[in-house]
Amino acid sequence: MSQDQTSLNTLIDQIASRLATEDQHLITALREALASQHAAHSETAKGPLTARLDTESGCYLFGDDPSYYCPHCFDQLQQKITTQRLNRKLRVCPQCRSSLRPL
Ligand SMILES: [Zn+2]
Repeated sequence: MSQDQTSLNTLIDQIASRLATEDQHLITALREALASQHAAHSETAKGPLTARLDTESGCYLFGDDPSYYCPHCFDQLQQKITTQRLNRKLRVCPQCRSSLRPL
């Protein structure tokens, strides 16, 4: 749960405590609306997992993620393994020990 979501829930609790019993259903409706909106948002944020081959490193990149991932582990095991940089030209995967170099 994010910080925004937590403070939002606290705020709703405070409003709920000030409302009459017959108006509490409004709070319930609000909580439900927020919960479904939040669920829909995280669904979109996750998005489809599309790998992009970076020709300068020979690694896979995902969206805005700055990490370089091993293409062998992702293609064969569906695992996202962050590669380690050895030097300017070479990276290595700690999982399958593949050397990754520019294409
Ligand atoms: Zn690997």
